[in-house]
Amino acid sequence: APVSMNDLVSLCKQRGFIFPGSEIYGGLANTWDYGPLGAELKNNIKRLWWKDFITNRDDVVGLDSAILMNPRTWEASGHVGGFSDPLMDCRACKTRHRADKLIDEKLKTEGIKRSIEGMDNASLRALITEYKITCPDCGKSDFTDIRAFNLMFKTYQGVTEDSGALVYLRPETAQGIFVNFRNVQSASRKKLPFGIAQIGKSFRNEITPGNFIFRTREFEQMELEFFCFPEDSIEWHGKWKETCRDWLLKIGLKPELFRLREHSAQELSHYSKATTDIEFLFPFGWGELWALPTAHMKFSGKDLHYAEPDRGIKVIPHVIEPSLGVERLLLSVLISAYSRDIADGEERVVLSLSPELAPLQAAVFPLSKKLNENAEKLCTDLRRQFRVEYDDAGSIGRRYRRQDEIGTPFCITSPYAIAIPCSRSAFPSVHLSSICLNASIANPLLTVRRIQSGSHPPTVK
Ligand code: ATP
Repeated sequence: APVSMNDLVSLCKQRGFIFPGSEIYGGLANTWDYGPLGAELKNNIKRLWWKDFITNRDDVVGLDSAILMNPRTWEASGHVGGFSDPLMDCRACKTRHRADKLIDEKLKTEGIKRSIEGMDNASLRALITEYKITCPDCGKSDFTDIRAFNLMFKTYQGVTEDSGALVYLRPETAQGIFVNFRNVQSASRKKLPFGIAQIGKSFRNEITPGNFIFRTREFEQMELEFFCFPEDSIEWHGKWKETCRDWLLKIGLKPELFRLREHSAQELSHYSKATTDIEFLFPFGWGELWALPTAHMKFSGKDLHYAEPDRGIKVIPHVIEPSLGVERLLLSVLISAYSRDIADGEERVVLSLSPELAPLQAAVFPLSKKLNENAEKLCTDLRRQFRVEYDDAGSIGRRYRRQDEIGTPFCITSPYAIAIPCSRSAFPSVHLSSICLNASIANPLLTVRRIQSGSHPPTVK
């Protein structure tokens, strides 16, 4: 059976992946803290993304821009002003909803092709009545008028709380890339097509946060802006779709749990030629994991003309914007990896994580507390290369189960020094016994790469 959100939340808490935020003070709704294993997993995800989307490519460079930006950025991008979310309350059950989302859903389920983009609040409210839209929570159709709501967090820069010093916490990392476009382009001497990417926190005062870490008000994005000639944007969009899909498979997401969904002509915003969402099957249904829109830079609010040295012309690039939430990916990784089975009459949980993502790559178990000399040395040696835990508590079987539950791909018992893979691991095992017997790593290059190549037959004892 697929994992339920409750099972996942309790595993995450018990094993130290994710804790409720500020718990000892009664918590703060929809905030989460990442424990020892969660912090490792998150870092591994970010490191792998950075490596594959920046380091290993010649056409993408990295950036780390500030969270606080000149407020004019958000006027130009449309985040302050006309683009606030249209909110209305259900009078019957007092829940709050986004009018445009309810209308969109209705149009989609009824198969009606109609664009509501740019509509004012009164017209949206009229559509709610026209299509007899009901509250998803109570089924009644008694809504208030629509009010504009801005999802940006406000704060004040400097010591006084006057409005002159009003600044916002960024709601996306993309604008940090746009404002640095010229600087990065000239400093790195990149020519079109090329990309700028960064990882960083974003903040949105979401109306309906929830579903564990799926939607929170503070989250982290891994965002890439890929600039290209306007005539090449569809081709690049296609290439990035493939790159993103292949990467999800590489890190171990089950292919049956995600899909690519193209936006229809009606759904597309006026500045986009094509948009694809990569959606994941979460316990509550399909949800957006990775957004891949194309956009025209002329709508960024700044003159981002780019003088193309080879062609001797000025162009405004088009941009492909693959944007991925770190926490949503982490949740997808856990769901993909989770399974349960019966071993020795006991139910156990197994996480089949890729060795590159697993918080721990190996665990070393001395057979007894007395027979531990080799094991300690082995553990120290392995730690130079790998993330390793030493565990001498409880029966060997119990120790294996503890590691199964947190996705450790290799366990090594000592002094007999035999590597036993997580029995459900999606990754083929490797014969580690020679290095274990020596209790020293003669060849530290025996790494995950060899494990994944599958060239070594599994050794299971
Ligand atoms: P949604 O429709 O779910 O609100 P969105 O379309 O507003 O998402 P984008 O602005 O395209 O999201 O952001 C890009 C990515 O950032 C999303 O695909 C998602 O992975 C992540 N993301 C966006 N909002 C949140 C949030 N509140 N909590 C966690 N991750 C988020």
